[in-house]
Amino acid sequence: MPTLKQRWTRSNSAVALLILAATGSVLFTAIEGAWVHSNTQKLIATAAWVEHTQDVITSLQRAALLTERIEYRSRLYLLTGQDDQLVRVRTSASALETAADRLATLVADNPYQTGNASSLSACSAQLGRMAANLNPRSPIPDVQVQACQQIIGKMTDQEQWLLRERTANSQRLSFASIQTLRGFVALSLLTFAVLFFFLFRDAVMRERIGKETAATNERLANSVNALEDQAHETELMTSVRDELQLCTDVQQVYQAAVNGFSRLLRGTSGSLCMIDSSQHLVEVVSSWEGSGGKSQVVDFHPPEACCGLRAGQPRWRQPGVSEIHCTHFAGDSPERYFCKPIMAHGSAIGMLYMQCPDERVVLKVNQRMDGLRHLIQLTGMTIAALNLRARLESQSIRDSLTGLFNRHFMQISLERELARAARRQQTLAVVMLDLDHFKTFNDTHGHGAGDTVLKAIAAMFRSTIRNEDFACRYGGEEFTIILPDITQDAASERVESIRKAVENLRVPLEGNVFSDFTVSIGVAFYPEDGEAAELLLRRADLALYRAKRLGRNQASLFAAKDPVA
Ligand code: GH3
Ligand code: MG
Ligand code: MG
Repeated sequence: MPTLKQRWTRSNSAVALLILAATGSVLFTAIEGAWVHSNTQKLIATAAWVEHTQDVITSLQRAALLTERIEYRSRLYLLTGQDDQLVRVRTSASALETAADRLATLVADNPYQTGNASSLSACSAQLGRMAANLNPRSPIPDVQVQACQQIIGKMTDQEQWLLRERTANSQRLSFASIQTLRGFVALSLLTFAVLFFFLFRDAVMRERIGKETAATNERLANSVNALEDQAHETELMTSVRDELQLCTDVQQVYQAAVNGFSRLLRGTSGSLCMIDSSQHLVEVVSSWEGSGGKSQVVDFHPPEACCGLRAGQPRWRQPGVSEIHCTHFAGDSPERYFCKPIMAHGSAIGMLYMQCPDERVVLKVNQRMDGLRHLIQLTGMTIAALNLRARLESQSIRDSLTGLFNRHFMQISLERELARAARRQQTLAVVMLDLDHFKTFNDTHGHGAGDTVLKAIAAMFRSTIRNEDFACRYGGEEFTIILPDITQDAASERVESIRKAVENLRVPLEGNVFSDFTVSIGVAFYPEDGEAAELLLRRADLALYRAKRLGRNQASLFAAKDPVA
């Protein structure tokens, strides 16, 4: 493909050729005009000479006729003696003299004929004099008439020759003129053809260059737009990534991601949906709304309702592309929508749903598909990382069987609550609980049944305590509950209600219902029974053993008489 410089050079040389052809054409037309003018003048002059010769010949013919008349009339006069004939002879002789004079004038340009003309004038004058003296005794001698006729004949021959020459010359000139004109016309046509060719070629080239320039301009504008779009997309992706990194819980991630999707996919509406832990339900966790109205996906739906989730890959539903509809809509399905599973560690943890109001928006979305894929990946990874962190955190502070806080976390929490109680001058109760004869239950019904009972008791603790209380599994079948900001009476009441709740607990398992559980409880108070966590735990434990000693299924408060361990 020629470069712009080459095209420019080519276009310049075309212009130079065009100027050259136009100048040549103008010059040629001027020369042609001058030639036609001069040739016409020549033709007119030649024609004038032919006409002049013919004029001379006509005059000579008249002179010859008059000479014949003089001869003829004079003979008639001599024969008849009629005066009438004599008058005619003299009239003809006079006319001959006039004709000879006129001929002298006509042939003045021709020295040869001038001589002849003066001879004729002299001869006709002589003849005139003889005609004037004509009588039967003095006839006009034949020799005089013949002399005149000879001169006229000589002159006529000369003029006939001149006429032939001049006519031939005129014909030659006309022929040459016609041929030259034909040549000029052909050359003119050729020049115009060349000129037209250059003009045409120039016009075609200009049109093509115009089209190419327009196409180049359009391409340039498109690439500038694409670059701007890309820059905008990069900026957007950076800001969303920064936002996502700041998130400390998944709710914030949902919000930041949806904000990113709505900015990236202008004109669309959609929802971020997450699959719950049971893997049976997909829940809309956050949505955005574009020009096409609200996202139409239902708040909860099974994973199988989405074709994209079923196929495990992104899917467009568009007329003419894919006609099958997902079934995660409450009413009518939109015409154009896109579903993409959100993957983390190789499995789907959710999906992005997005709907477009028209083809134009679909086109825009497809242009930003790379950014969208990246953002979905980023969202999935961030959610997975936060879930993992939450799980690890939970594992480090919670007991895996019961879900209650573990002993380590309880000790840290107790220290913190004691410090707070000291600051706020509040009281606090430390409650130790130990299931009675649990070994026997385990031995009778198995360890699995024992675990189920431990979980049921933990669930009961969670539902019974206040938000600010801490229930922990201290170890085995022993539990600790910390009750901040509580009076001794209130604590005694709460402890008694827990004891009763254990007593009333029914644990269904594999067709059996286990019951008749009891628990022994020991309670120590801050600040009366001690200010240090260690001491309070030991004293609560002492109280617990007292409750065991006293017959189990009861609560015991730490008393000063208890031996301090
Ligand atoms: P008491 O406290 O009334 O004196 O009698 P006990 O039988 O409850 O006490 P003991 O200390 O002799 O036994 C505690 C039992 O708790 C032993 C063990 O089988 C059971 N146990 C401890 N941890 C678990 C556990 O995680 N799961 C199950 N199923 N049982 C446990
Ligand atoms: Mg025990
Ligand atoms: Mg026990």
